[in-house]
Amino acid sequence: MLAGEQLLAVCGTLVDPASGIHGEESCIVIESDVVAGIREEPPSGGRVLDFRGTGTYVLPGLVDMHVHLRGMRLSYKEDEASGTAAAARGGVTLVADMPNTAPRLDTPEALLHKLWRLRVLSRVEYRVYAAVPPTPSYIDEMIKLPSVAGFKIYPSDIAERWGTVESLLGRDDLLLVLHPELPEAEKAEHEDPALRGVARGCHWEEAAVDLIAGHSWGARIHVTHASCASTVQKAKRHNMTVDAAPHHLLYHAPVRGNCLWKVNPPLRDHIEQSLMLKMLLEAQIDAVASDHAPHSLHEKNLDPLICPPGITWLEAWPHTLSCLVVSGAMRIEEYAEVASTKPAAILGARRCLEPGCPASITALAIGGQWGDRFYANTFSKARHVPYRGERLCSETAATVVAGRLVYLDPGWRIR
Ligand SMILES: [Zn+2]
Repeated sequence: MLAGEQLLAVCGTLVDPASGIHGEESCIVIESDVVAGIREEPPSGGRVLDFRGTGTYVLPGLVDMHVHLRGMRLSYKEDEASGTAAAARGGVTLVADMPNTAPRLDTPEALLHKLWRLRVLSRVEYRVYAAVPPTPSYIDEMIKLPSVAGFKIYPSDIAERWGTVESLLGRDDLLLVLHPELPEAEKAEHEDPALRGVARGCHWEEAAVDLIAGHSWGARIHVTHASCASTVQKAKRHNMTVDAAPHHLLYHAPVRGNCLWKVNPPLRDHIEQSLMLKMLLEAQIDAVASDHAPHSLHEKNLDPLICPPGITWLEAWPHTLSCLVVSGAMRIEEYAEVASTKPAAILGARRCLEPGCPASITALAIGGQWGDRFYANTFSKARHVPYRGERLCSETAATVVAGRLVYLDPGWRIR
């Protein structure tokens, strides 16, 4: 991992749906932390990353709007340094961190401490969601802290803190991110992955979206990790934005119980998964967000009935998702939209390549079979992943955050 060297230019095949740039071999010239211009040739002096002639795409920096960096008392699973090093390695330039930490980020003090840790430890740009506080009187103080993206509503908040949820819904200046399951769904546990998906079925997701939509609300509502096509349809009907996780888009429930694939909401059957993928390819899903949820090996080795849900994703998901580009199912412009520009917009950030845009850029080398080489160079503390051994369809050539090089593939050199 690099300390963060200042760059002058990144050259390659430029793709930016927001700026109408597709497929030109050129150079992004950087001044300080912004894009200063686009030129055919790199500047003669200074530090240049030149990927021209290699089939490497230079994209607006990837964004992951749902991650669990853990930290504090959960640092044995992951912390802000290891999690954001994993992000940089995956090509992710901006992460939005979830508040179900220990302690929970449901007071101004807890949030301030988390923000301090991120300021000191993060390798990439970050946002944090606040947890629903015990009293609405905390809301104003929490939302005005820098880098707070909004609030996350969990099923337990619907059960236990509905008064504060109502206050949040009534605001017109907030982003609210909804975990779309009712608290009752959390009681349905099953050892068998297929039966778990049935017990914790799509109806719980739809019901959660309906419950929120049935209330008068002014806030911007985003439904995260939708796992069913009907949830996506409901969210869109109510003018909510929606993301889906790579595991719900690309995998269905395994035949046998295994904690590595255990996740909430659960994996669905192959029909539901196909429908989700279809909706992604039809641009009905606004963003892909990983729900990177690391746990220790000991925890993931526990009995499937009691082991914690969650999959480690930050390093790999961009390179799993790119298989849709390699197979021809998705254009690289569409990939840039769901993995960068759209989630950035939901968070109120910008990802683009035009002059004046923030110089946060991902260089993505598409194609190849990178398996063993990939896993020899990872940074997350949670290395036990269910997709190990499967093909990855790209590799991060470089990750640039605000003009600084935060990851460079060991096979490349800066000029
Ligand atoms: Zn999550």
